[in-house]
Amino acid sequence: MKVYADNAATTKMSKAAIETYVEYANEYFGNPSSLYQTGQVAKEKLEEARSRVAAIINAEPREIIFTSGGSEADNQALLSAAEAGLKKGKKHIISSAFEHHAILHTLRKLEKNGFEVTLLPVHENGIVVPGEVEDAIREDTCLVTIMTVNNEIGTIQPIEKIGEICKRHGVTFHTDAVQAVGHLPIDVKAQNIDMLSASAHKFHGPKGVGFLYVRKGLPISNLIEGGAQERGKRAGTENLAGIMAMVIALEESKRCMNSVKEHLLPIRDYIINGLSEIPHSALNGDMKERMYSNVNFSFEGIEGESILILLDQKGISASSGSACTSGSLDPSHVLLAIGRIHDVAHGSLRLSLCDDATYEEADYIIENVKEIVEHLRGFSPVWRDLQEGKRTYILK
Ligand SMILES: *Cc1c(COP(=O)(O)O)cnc(C)c1O
Repeated sequence: MKVYADNAATTKMSKAAIETYVEYANEYFGNPSSLYQTGQVAKEKLEEARSRVAAIINAEPREIIFTSGGSEADNQALLSAAEAGLKKGKKHIISSAFEHHAILHTLRKLEKNGFEVTLLPVHENGIVVPGEVEDAIREDTCLVTIMTVNNEIGTIQPIEKIGEICKRHGVTFHTDAVQAVGHLPIDVKAQNIDMLSASAHKFHGPKGVGFLYVRKGLPISNLIEGGAQERGKRAGTENLAGIMAMVIALEESKRCMNSVKEHLLPIRDYIINGLSEIPHSALNGDMKERMYSNVNFSFEGIEGESILILLDQKGISASSGSACTSGSLDPSHVLLAIGRIHDVAHGSLRLSLCDDATYEEADYIIENVKEIVEHLRGFSPVWRDLQEGKRTYILK
């Protein structure tokens, strides 16, 4: 059996998105900046795409900038708010400890340029407390950036409340909504969002396409200098085929959102219950405020990387909490942020389910994870020490 359970890393393009891509690459290949008809038709389609994206998140077309994806949108949002802050002498930014690296690394760069960054804790449940955002706001705070849904543990943040606090204090609020757009309802006005990042390949659109929403009136800095595309805020000939494929995928995702949630929620819980039977294991992240597609577990006494390799041999694509960077195995900053110690954070597994996941696949996953964990513990020195009482168990 083949089970793809890594949809938080990327999703398969939908059939309609692929068909749209092919159609647009064939029919509307003109450069939208060209003055002849072939170009102008492409320009019209581009603006149609902008209106359709805007409509889905309750924004205005001119508030949408097409980008190469979530990372670029995150970079542009943070740099824009930082540059605007600098002009007013405001150099303080608030974020959280478990943001995506596109946020954290950009913040690190801003710190080197004289900004001060407060990273709020996300607590054991993986949720930012709005009151703590409010307490952290200072006279010189120019930006709050908190993700809508965490990509590793799937916890859903109280975005609307955080946005309301920012609005009250006159601080710009950005959210990395890459894991939420296409999966949860988004209304930038109702949720008090000033800036939002999204990426097509996380909702069955193509890779290398995304968008940044910036509320009108807020200044935007451009990362890419050159032509006057995207109102001069993002140079480069527009990827119209990719952009329209994203629109189709987004509209499809929105249409199916409720039925997918209804379908997946019990399957997700079935997997969580199944894996909970493994002794000395624990679910990572809140159970209630959690994406309907996300399962993330830590198993004591083993390493995440080995689970993944063995799962792959069984045809299951999953991910661990940890990222392997340049030969050194760093445990996931997300799992460390929710208080998992290094050893435990290493033995973690993230499953992010396909929209059409089945109970048969769920059984296959549970059965194989159980077997693999037992197998790996069989020759783990850490597990032996735990069993012999030379170490104490962290997970019950
Ligand atoms: C995938 C992801 C990104 C990066 O998006 P790309 O389009 O791959 O650049 C940023 N933030 C979150 C939360 C993500 O899951």
